[in-house]
Amino acid sequence: MNGQPKQPLRLAVLGSTGSIGLSTLDVAARHPERFRLTALTAHSNVDLLREQCLRHRPEIAVMVEHAAAAQLRRELAAAGCTTEVLAGAESLCEAATHAGVDCVMAAIVGAAGLAPTLAAARAAKRLLLANKEALVMSGPLFMQAVRESGATLIPIDSEHNAVFQCMPPGSTTGLRAAGVRRILLTASGGPFLRASAAVMAQATPAQACAHPRWVMGRKISVDSATLMNKGLELIEACLLFGLPPEAVEIVVHPQSIVHSLVEYLDGSMLAQLGNPDMRTPIAHALGWPERLHSGVESLDLVRAGRLDFEPPDLKRFACLRLAREAAVVGGTAPAVLNAANEIAVQAFLDGRCAFPSIPQVIEEVMAVHRPRPIDSLDDVLEADAWARAVAAAHLNSPTGACA
Ligand code: NAD
Ligand code: MG
Repeated sequence: MNGQPKQPLRLAVLGSTGSIGLSTLDVAARHPERFRLTALTAHSNVDLLREQCLRHRPEIAVMVEHAAAAQLRRELAAAGCTTEVLAGAESLCEAATHAGVDCVMAAIVGAAGLAPTLAAARAAKRLLLANKEALVMSGPLFMQAVRESGATLIPIDSEHNAVFQCMPPGSTTGLRAAGVRRILLTASGGPFLRASAAVMAQATPAQACAHPRWVMGRKISVDSATLMNKGLELIEACLLFGLPPEAVEIVVHPQSIVHSLVEYLDGSMLAQLGNPDMRTPIAHALGWPERLHSGVESLDLVRAGRLDFEPPDLKRFACLRLAREAAVVGGTAPAVLNAANEIAVQAFLDGRCAFPSIPQVIEEVMAVHRPRPIDSLDDVLEADAWARAVAAAHLNSPTGACA
C-alpha cells in the first residue's frame, strides 16, 4: 500500500437499460469512489438511457437504433449533458474497447452481444460476462481470445459466479489437477416445474415470463421456463472451467438459495448461498478480489427453513437434453442450438408459436445440422445465420410449429 487513493475503475455497461444493466448501475452507484461509468449502451430505450446519462454523465452512450440515437443526442444537448452519443451496432465495439474503459459488463441479451463481448476480450479488458449466448456461440474462439489477450474473465451468471467462488484459489484451468471432481449447477425449475405437459402446451408468454424467484429480461425468462437457460449454462460452465459435459450435473433446487456447487475428489462439496438477487454476483465481480456491499439483504436460513434438490425432468424439458447433446458434439453445434432457440423464443413471445414448439424447432434444426469445428468468427456467424434461416423456415412451413 502506498497510501495513494485508488483510481476509480472505469466501466462500460453494455445493455445498461436491461435487468443486469440496472443492477450493475445500482451496485456501482453505491461506491462512487470506486467506479466511474464511462460508457453506457442500449438498443432503443431513449427515456431510460437519457435518465442514466443525466445521472452518471458517461463519456459515451451508444444507441443501436439510429433514430433513437438522434433523439437522445438532441435531448442530452438540450439538458447541457456533454456525453457523446454514438449510433449503430458497430459502435457497441467502440464502447467495449474504448481506451478510457478498464472493465466491461457484457449484459446485452443474445447473439447481438457477441461482437462487442469478443472485442472486449481481445482488448484485454476486465470482462464481466452475463451475456452467456456470446460465449456459447463462439466457445473455443472466445476462450482463446481471453487467454491470448490476458483479459480477466469473471462470470456474472449466478451459477458460474458461485462456481468461481468455490473453485481452488487462483485457478480456473487445470481443475482436475487441483482435485475438482465435478460441478453441480442448480436450477430453480422455472414457472412450469410442477406443470403437466398439457398445461405447458397452453402456456402464454406472460405465464412463461412469471419466474418464481428471479426478475429478469423476457428472453432469459422464457429460457428459464424451458430450462434452455440451464442448457446454455451447462455449455457455459464447460467452457469457462475447462471441464467435459459429463463433469457438469444439473440439479433442480426450487428455493434458488444454493447458487451452485463444486465437488472435490475427497468428497467435499463447496457451495455458494445467498438470496436470489443478481447484485450479489455483480458486486462480487466488480470488487473481486475484494468484497463490496451490494445492497442485498442477509440470507435468513432459519426463515428459508429447507433446501430441496431433485433431478430435472428431461421429457418435459427437452431443451436441457438438446443442449447437453450440443455440448458433447461441440464445434458449431452450440451456436446452432443458440440461434434456433433465439428464433423460437422470439416467435413464442410474439404469439406466433406455442410453448412446446420451442424445443421442437430446435430439435428439427439440430437434426439437419452438420457440425463443423470453429476456427474463426465467420464460422460462428455462418452457423448462426444458417440456423436462424432453417428455424424460421420450419416455423413458417405448413406442417411446421406455427401451422
Ligand atoms: P434484458 O432484456 O433485460 O436487457 C437486455 C439489454 O440488451 C438491454 O439494455 C437492451 O437495450 C440491450 N439489447 C437488446 N437487444 C440488443 C441489440 N440487438 N443490440 C444491442 N443491445 C441490445 O436482458 P437481461 O435479463 O438483463 O439479460 C442480459 C444478459 O444477461 C442475457 O444474456 C442473459 O442471459 C444474462 N443473464 C441475465 C440474468 C438476469 O437475472 N437478468 C441472469 C444471468 C444471466
Ligand atoms: Mg443463471
